[in-house]
Amino acid sequence: MSLACLVFAAILSATACAPTPPAIVEQLGEATLLRPDVETAIHMTNEALRASDEPFRLVASWQLNGRGLSEDEIAVYLIRSPASPPMLVRERTVLKATIATMASDFGGIADGTEHCGDLDECVESLYPDATTNLVMEVLNRLNSWELAKTSPECRCIVLVEQDLQLYRIVFGADWDRYVLLTRFDNDEEFRAALANDRIPKALLDGESVPLEAMIAFLLLHEIGHLSEAPLQISTGEPAGNLKAYLNGLNPRQLEELRADGFVVRVLAPYCFRQNPTGLVQQTCNAPPVLGMLTFVIGMKGKSKDARCLRYLDTVPGYPNWQARLLLLNYQYVAESKSQSLLLDYLSTREQLLKQSWIVDSEVCHRAALLSPAARPAERSPATY
Ligand SMILES: [Zn+2]
Repeated sequence: MSLACLVFAAILSATACAPTPPAIVEQLGEATLLRPDVETAIHMTNEALRASDEPFRLVASWQLNGRGLSEDEIAVYLIRSPASPPMLVRERTVLKATIATMASDFGGIADGTEHCGDLDECVESLYPDATTNLVMEVLNRLNSWELAKTSPECRCIVLVEQDLQLYRIVFGADWDRYVLLTRFDNDEEFRAALANDRIPKALLDGESVPLEAMIAFLLLHEIGHLSEAPLQISTGEPAGNLKAYLNGLNPRQLEELRADGFVVRVLAPYCFRQNPTGLVQQTCNAPPVLGMLTFVIGMKGKSKDARCLRYLDTVPGYPNWQARLLLLNYQYVAESKSQSLLLDYLSTREQLLKQSWIVDSEVCHRAALLSPAARPAERSPATY
């Protein structure tokens, strides 16, 4: 802060001067490529915040032009990635190739899957290792990216540009073909269904999540961390295992769910009060569509390791990504379908943790240790 600013701040108000960027912005430098996408996302997020009467407004750091933040404003920074540029190029190339291979995978659901659930041994032989490995590759990457951050000391949100681009490769990819192919035994059957108009038009016209909608979703989650909105999830009967699941989470994991809950708190009234179209509609659809795509991507991950990635917690402090999206979906549209999807998932997760083979696999063993339900003695009472 300049001397003039210090004097003004003392005399007038603390918001007279431009905010000091967090250290990470100084260290890594600001990025510029995705600024137009971030600006669109900020505009949409502000509209939703206004419609939901939430006392927050976002402002891009590069549009502050030296002025300070007003009381309700939060600055958004877009920064470079800490990873080296060659590493990011490599990551992008591998990821694009993986997605393309998955999308053209003709391995439909094999015969005999009807009675072969994720807890049965028979699931392991359903798909070739190559397919399962592709699933694991994508899930591992989805879990490891750090796209956005905030902290209570900084009235700001920091977005990482290159990680957002990688995220777009996964969720922005055209998954329609993959979704459809997983429903048929072979390409011939798929083509026959297409020719006979047996495939719902919505699936053929299905749109993935555009980057601006994903950014709006992330921004709302980060504002959730800065808000004091409580975590409110209905755990009433018959949602017995939902209560047990929440009780098994540690305070850091519950904080993530609280921030997720803020996304619903803002989007639900905004989206259901009007008849949204275009990008607003895609933002409104982002939570359920992200959940569906994560489910679809994981669908062929049937090895022990892949199932542990899909059901258990693999990153310290964060609940499983699929669990979070199912929970979001349930809060978003609290009806019997979204509830039973969530409860089915949680019950498989619970049973998976009891399997004796968990300790034989390094991925599973590590995930089981991070999934607090596996350690009843260390549970702390939930504060939801
Ligand atoms: Zn968070």
